[in-house]
Amino acid sequence: MTDINEIFNILGDAASNSEKELIAKAYNFAERAHEGQKRMSGEPYFVHVFEVAKKLAKLGMNTQIIAAGFLHDVIEDTNIPEEEIEKQIEQEFGTDMVFLVKGVTKLGKVKYRGYERHIESLRKFFMAIATDPRVVIIKFADRLHNLQTLQHVREDKRKRIAMESLEIYAPLANRLGMRKLKCEIEDAAFPYVYPKEFKQIEEIIEEKKHIYERNLSEIKEKLELELTKNNVKVAAINYRFKHKYSLWKKFVRRDKDVEKVYDIIALRVILQNVEDCYKVLGIIHSIWKPVPGRIKDFIAMPKPNGYRSLHTTIFTDSGTPAEIQIRTEKMHAEAAFGVAAHYFYKEKDEAKKINRKYNDTFKWIEDLKNLDYDPGDMKSFLGHIKMDFFNDRIFIFTPKGDVIDLPEGSTPIDFAYSVHSDVGEHIAGAKINGKMSHIFTKLKNRDIVHIIKKKDAHPSGKWLDHVKTSVAKKHIKSYTEKNSLLSRLKSFGRKPKY
Ligand code: MN
Repeated sequence: MTDINEIFNILGDAASNSEKELIAKAYNFAERAHEGQKRMSGEPYFVHVFEVAKKLAKLGMNTQIIAAGFLHDVIEDTNIPEEEIEKQIEQEFGTDMVFLVKGVTKLGKVKYRGYERHIESLRKFFMAIATDPRVVIIKFADRLHNLQTLQHVREDKRKRIAMESLEIYAPLANRLGMRKLKCEIEDAAFPYVYPKEFKQIEEIIEEKKHIYERNLSEIKEKLELELTKNNVKVAAINYRFKHKYSLWKKFVRRDKDVEKVYDIIALRVILQNVEDCYKVLGIIHSIWKPVPGRIKDFIAMPKPNGYRSLHTTIFTDSGTPAEIQIRTEKMHAEAAFGVAAHYFYKEKDEAKKINRKYNDTFKWIEDLKNLDYDPGDMKSFLGHIKMDFFNDRIFIFTPKGDVIDLPEGSTPIDFAYSVHSDVGEHIAGAKINGKMSHIFTKLKNRDIVHIIKKKDAHPSGKWLDHVKTSVAKKHIKSYTEKNSLLSRLKSFGRKPKY
């Protein structure tokens, strides 16, 4: 159950003797330190730290991080006095290891106290990321194992831990581009936080799985044939199921109509270079018609967390839409591991290249370090951290620099109503980042929006198709209802009194 060879096997032949020694030393140190301790499941405590180290090895992390995984609980969860154990770690593993283990221990003290107040926890996490992302990666692996053994924990505590994972850990992992960990954390937490919804999603998958699989395997065959004809070398073509929690979120966003969720399963085409990605996109569109508005070029414009890929949705021969994602091998690895790719075991030159790119993508981490803020003023703290952190929200600035928080997909109309109902009622146009734009334009994170008002401008029912917020919907509906009543009265030749 806790065979060290399992970890050596994951590392493979590449592991040098000194690296194996380091891991074995950490293994023994942790086993001794946790001796006699039990987890709630009744298992020896050591099983937990072993599993955490194993997860880090599977994530491809270097040996120092794997060793720290073994040691991550020795400060807090043993009977040895803190100072004493720190001295021992320093003697045997050096100061960097003390730093890592202490960092993880400190993060452990973050307590979730409801959505509104989770900013303090976030702040701690951001500080840890800014200081050394390795600490957070170890904490993620720790949390994931705790989630996977949550059935042994008291029920009220269970829900708190799962909720905290959904609200803090998963968005953070996502923000760091660590998609694989993010999805695993979400799916482990999902059934504890939303048991009914979890069951519903499982049923949907069960029901649809076979149809989708058959559909995609047909597309795959046809595409493979065409790619060979065109001499495109393919690294891999496979498909992936959407993770349960993200499927549920999308399901809700699509009015709980599963037919409107096009990417329950998506075909992935992994290629050797960027030119081929665009070429293959062209080939795909020559076989199947693309669904309008669903072609996304995240290579030219990567997501804020660094994600790169081409996406398109096509009408398949059976008529059902299907999503295809096209990317290079490198993009594929980055999409799964994000900032953690920094610490990949071996592959030094490759890692350096990724480093350079990530220094750009994660420049906000660097900015964070130099941040001077008042710890009591969380609002201004949130103003400082790049606010596209929250997945489904965008943050729009007024010309004066005030921030309006809106759901993704919002337009200047939503913005106007969020500023003041009167601004919404008389919106005639909008300047987005200084440029005159249509009021139906979808806003992007951190746009600066200036609303142009006119006295005789009024809402129309058509606007309802272009707003996201309930406040805008409510005002537009009440205006148009009042107005249609007005015109009906007018047609009777009576002057309405209002
Ligand atoms: Mn732990």
